Amino acid sequence: MDVTDSVAVLTSSVGIEAPVNSVDIARSLGLQVRFEDLPADVRGFFLENSNVIVVNAKDRQERQNFTIAHEIGELRKPKKMAALRREKWADEFAAELLLPHHLFVEYGRHAGWDLAKLKELFCTASWEVIARRVLKHHNCVITIIDNRKVYFRRGSGMKFPSKLMAEEIEAIESNSQVISDQCCVRCWSVVEETERVFLMTETVE
Ligand SMILES: [Zn+2]
Repeated sequence: MDVTDSVAVLTSSVGIEAPVNSVDIARSLGLQVRFEDLPADVRGFFLENSNVIVVNAKDRQERQNFTIAHEIGELRKPKKMAALRREKWADEFAAELLLPHHLFVEYGRHAGWDLAKLKELFCTASWEVIARRVLKHHNCVITIIDNRKVYFRRGSGMKFPSKLMAEEIEAIESNSQVISDQCCVRCWSVVEETERVFLMTETVE
C-alpha cells in the first residue's frame, strides 16, 4: 500500500479536518503521547512495550506534530522495508497526514497556492512541509532561503536554472511579488529558529 492509500485508510476511520492534530489522532489509535526533555537532536521515538510516543518537549509545536505523525507512520508502514526507506516512508506519511491530499489540493487551488493562506489553515504543519508539499500538486519552483543562503530549491513541471534568477533576487530584496515576461515570483518572509524566505516561482501564461 502506498503512503496516500495508507493515510486514507487511517483518516477514513478516525475522521479528519484541517488543521490536523496528530496528538488527537494518536490517542484515537490507543497510543499515549508523552512530552519529555530529550537531547536537542532527538525528535522523539516510540516505546513499543507501552504504546507510548515520546516527543521532545522543547521542540516547536509544528515539529512535535510532525514527529508524532511520523511515529504513527512507522506503526502503519508495510512490514518488510529497509531501514532508510522506512524513515522516508514515515516522513512522507507524516506530511500526507498533516496535509491530507484532498483537503490540501482543494484548498490549495482555492487559495491560488498562497503559502501564507495554506499555513493559516494547516497551522499544525510547518512552512517547510507545506512548501515542499505544494510541489506535488502545482507546477512551480520552491526555493527556501535560510539565513540568506539557498537551503532548498526544487521545481515541478517547469525548467529552471539552479542559480536564482534575477526576478527571484529582486523578490527577496524587495520582499514582494515580482512579475516579468518570464515568470511570477511570490515571496514570504518567516521567522522560525532562523530567518527564512520562501519563494514560489511560476511561469507566466
Ligand atoms: Zn522514524
